[in-house]
Amino acid sequence: MSSVGPTDTDVHGERRIEWLHEVCSALHDELSDLDDGLPASYIPELSRVDPDRFAIAAVGRDGRSQSVGDRSHHFTIQSISKLLLYGLALETHGRDAVLQRVGVAPTGDPFNAIELDEEHHRAPNPMVNSGAIAITDLVSGGNLDERTAVVLRLFERFLGRRPDVDRAVCASERVTGNRNRAIAYLLANGGIITDRVEETLDVYFMQCSVLVTVEDLALIGATIANAGVHPTTGEQIFSPQVTRDVMTVALTCGMYDYAGEWAYTVGIPAKSGVGGGIVGMIPGVGGLAAFSPRLDEHGHSVRGVKVFEALSDRFDLHLFDSDRPWAAPT
Ligand code: GLU
Repeated sequence: MSSVGPTDTDVHGERRIEWLHEVCSALHDELSDLDDGLPASYIPELSRVDPDRFAIAAVGRDGRSQSVGDRSHHFTIQSISKLLLYGLALETHGRDAVLQRVGVAPTGDPFNAIELDEEHHRAPNPMVNSGAIAITDLVSGGNLDERTAVVLRLFERFLGRRPDVDRAVCASERVTGNRNRAIAYLLANGGIITDRVEETLDVYFMQCSVLVTVEDLALIGATIANAGVHPTTGEQIFSPQVTRDVMTVALTCGMYDYAGEWAYTVGIPAKSGVGGGIVGMIPGVGGLAAFSPRLDEHGHSVRGVKVFEALSDRFDLHLFDSDRPWAAPT
C-alpha cells in the first residue's frame, strides 16, 4: 500500500497523473539494469529483437496518457491479441456459442500445452493457445482474406490506424508452428473447430504478428477497462458485459501458470505476450502496459512483471484493495 503521494481527492486529477509519470520514470531508470531472462527464441525471428528495449505506458479512461522509454518502438502483440479476439467472438456469436467451444477454467499449465477440457469437450480457456485457436476459428468470413480483414479491422478500431503485420515474424511462426498445428488438429479431430485448420492457423499467426507500441497496448487496456468505450474515439467497441467477461478470464487465466501468483501479488486483470508486452486493465480507471523482451520461465516479460508489481503497490491498484482511492466515488 502506498503511504506517500497525492491524496484521494486527486485520484483523477493532474497531480496524480504527474505522480504516475514520476513513478514510471523512476521505475524505468531502476529496472533498466535488470537483464534477467531471454527473448523468446522458439519463434526464431523473435530472438532477433533488441533485448534492452524497455517502455511503460498508462492511458486513463479519459484518454490522458503517460509513457516513458521506448514508447514508439513497435513489437509483435503475440498473445495479447487473444483478448481482442475473445471479445470479438463474444460480440459476434454470443456467450453460449462461445462457451460451448471454449471454457473459462484456468489450467495452471503453460500457454502452449496440448490439452482439452475432456469433461466438457471444449478448450479450457481463451487465453491459452488451444482456446485461442478455437476462438480464431470463430472469425467470420468465407476465406483467408475475408477473415484476415475482419481481424485487422478490429485492431484498427482499437489502434486508430490500420495495423501493420510483421511478415517475418508471421512467416517464422508459421514455419515453426507445429505445436500450434498439433493443438489445432486435436481441436478439429474433436469437432471443436471446423476443418479449415490451416486457414485458421494462418489467421492466428497473423493476429499474433500485429505490430503495436506500448502506448497502443495501454490504449487497448483502457478501452476494455472503460466498459468497451474507446477513450479517444468514443466508439463502443465491446459491450460492458463482454469487457467484464474478457477481464475476468484475463485475471484468472491471462498470465498462464503464473495467474494465481499474479492475482495474489498484482491483482490486475492482465495479458502478456511472448513479444515482451504486458497489458493490464484497471476497471473503470484505465490501462497500463509495459514492454521489455527478456522473458521469465512462464513467458512473461521480467521487467514488465516488476513494473506491474511496483505500480499495483504504489497506486493501490489491486482489485481487492477495499480502501484503494481509485475505488472512491468522485
Ligand atoms: N504466437 C505465440 C504462440 O502461439 C503466442 C504465445 C504468447 O504470446 O504467449 O506460440
